[in-house]
Amino acid sequence: MKQSKKNRNENVLESCFFCNSYYSQDDFLMLEEQDQKNTVHVTCPKCNTSTLVFSSITNTGIVSLGIATDLDKNEVKKMFCNKAIDADDVLEMHELVYEKDALRV
Ligand SMILES: [Zn+2]
Repeated sequence: MKQSKKNRNENVLESCFFCNSYYSQDDFLMLEEQDQKNTVHVTCPKCNTSTLVFSSITNTGIVSLGIATDLDKNEVKKMFCNKAIDADDVLEMHELVYEKDALRV
């Protein structure tokens, strides 16, 4: 397992990946909570960047992916209520991000 990748993934839920400010508990909004999957919206208190974080528990550990979004808490809440995002959508997003990561390394 790649140690560097693991560290980076953990940081997604700890600090903003644009300005590295640490989040506080109040900055998080839980959108979806399932057995092995969480979707969280977090807004950076410093640069105001909103990020959607998808966390999955896999057999290699917890994988968290952050994706920058223009939607604020209320908008994203509405989106999640109106249009259910199913596992396939999240999986697709995971694959997209992983592909990008793989190319960058
Ligand atoms: Zn920030």
